[in-house]
Amino acid sequence: MATAIEQLLGVQDLDREIRKLRREVEAKDSLRAQIQAQVEPAKKRLAEAQARLDIIQAEIRDREAAAEDARLKIAKRKNDQLAIKSNEAYRAMEKEIAELHERVRREEDAAVEAMELREKNEKLLGLEKVALVQEEASVAESLARFDERAGTRTTELAALEARRAEAVKGIPGAILARYDRLFGRYGDAAIARVEHGTCGCCHMKLAPAQVVAAHKHDTVTSCDFCGRMLFAEQAEGEAPQEP
Ligand SMILES: [Zn+2]
Repeated sequence: MATAIEQLLGVQDLDREIRKLRREVEAKDSLRAQIQAQVEPAKKRLAEAQARLDIIQAEIRDREAAAEDARLKIAKRKNDQLAIKSNEAYRAMEKEIAELHERVRREEDAAVEAMELREKNEKLLGLEKVALVQEEASVAESLARFDERAGTRTTELAALEARRAEAVKGIPGAILARYDRLFGRYGDAAIARVEHGTCGCCHMKLAPAQVVAAHKHDTVTSCDFCGRMLFAEQAEGEAPQEP
């Protein structure tokens, strides 16, 4: 029949596993969000490619409108020219028409250039769309694997908690409460093993009487320094010394 301290050592092993698993389960949502966020750069690149294309498209529209506007002005000026009497005014109008022709040419050239750029950017946009689809598929796969693993972790945690409920049976309430407080406070261990006369957790040198008491498993001894419960292994054939 195991003593309370011996039983608590088993409980402590379970508590460490439970603590680790509980952390994983609690971190689940933020980890899941991190995986989901992996698709964001590809989405951003696609949006940027689309924005670039929109700018180019707007430029083509503006250039074409400007060219059309200049052409309409040329037609109007040519019509006005018919009514002009003075040579000087006629020549001024000629000059204006020539400038408008130049403007039509400039705007049309710019439109053609923008169209070439549009073609390149449409190809880039297509590539970004493909990349996003691939990224989304990869993230969906990661999420499925993650959810499966997370589901397993939750089941494991429930099983461990059930095992713990069994493992604490028979431990006196006051000792268990003390153990729980210590484990809660330190997070790593409520029971320290005695190592070469020192506390295995805080590493302080223990009084000889404490070491002797730690060998007796039917009572619970605490470290004077950190307050953890002390446990010393009883070596084969070695009876605990009396103080
Ligand atoms: Zn200690």
